[in-house]
Amino acid sequence: MRPFTYERATSIEVAAKSAASNPEAKFIAGGTNLLDLMKLEIETPTHLIDVNGLGLDKIEPTAEGGLRIGAIARNTDLAAHATVRRDYALLSRALVAGASGQLRNKATTAGNLLQRTRCPYFYDTNQPCNKRQPGSGCSAIGGFSRQHAVVGVSDACIATHPSDMAIAMRTLDAVVETVKADGTRRSIPLADFHRLPAETPHIETTLEAGEIISAVVLPPPIGGKHIYRKVRDRASYAFAVVSIGAVLHDDGTGRVSVGGVAHKPWRIDAADTALPNGARAAAGALLSGARTTEQNRFKIDLVERTLGAVIAEARG
Ligand code: SF4
Repeated sequence: MRPFTYERATSIEVAAKSAASNPEAKFIAGGTNLLDLMKLEIETPTHLIDVNGLGLDKIEPTAEGGLRIGAIARNTDLAAHATVRRDYALLSRALVAGASGQLRNKATTAGNLLQRTRCPYFYDTNQPCNKRQPGSGCSAIGGFSRQHAVVGVSDACIATHPSDMAIAMRTLDAVVETVKADGTRRSIPLADFHRLPAETPHIETTLEAGEIISAVVLPPPIGGKHIYRKVRDRASYAFAVVSIGAVLHDDGTGRVSVGGVAHKPWRIDAADTALPNGARAAAGALLSGARTTEQNRFKIDLVERTLGAVIAEARG
């Protein structure tokens, strides 16, 4: 691990300003992904800004009837929160499917959104990877690509976003609240928060330099049956090959997002519209324009079958 300096931020504005003044600084809270990446020297920040002491761990109702989740609310606390379990059960289920209890106890809401891909070549510093080292090439294209993305891909990168929590939040129309280095605040719909890889896969979000997440806001509850189904290679400690986060109503309408298929939580309006027509129609809309490899082509069928199982479960 490379040497770094350490600062305990005294306010969120100070944290943002400090990060903006040093392009090689990183925020740290739970550290469940960042510390692994630092040990492997994939992330080499020269300065860490600890944001644990800023009171950003609250989970509170909003005046509009929704829920504001502090940026460093731990995944365990969020999954167990009574309001989340009752009104946003999809989120609770996705969190529980996301990691071991030990990790959930440390991992934070913002950190979960910002975690890096688990593409094996990203972690192997002997291999070219445009995300780790821009311009070096993509080892997954033409290499081992079974886990990789099938929609929204580019010639530069076919990595997936690994978060289960983000799939639920995308389905629930979450909004990310931030503080910029100049102290101004903004709200970013989760749909616009993560980027597709295009030619710059190393730039993963629309956050500006120094901009820090303060909270994630969920709109008022929408009812319906909340189902999170994660297909993975083993029963635990594994990332999704494909996952479905759905809220389905008795009349067949609903919303659906898919994980394990793209560089961001994947949701398409046309797929929501097609849900009453069944899994084939909705999956077709979700994966329209898919670009697969020989090794990950199976995900096309797997999404349709998993969505079919989710719809069947909702119908009881
Ligand atoms: Fe790197 Fe993306 Fe290619 Fe994986 S898929 S090797 S993360 S550029």
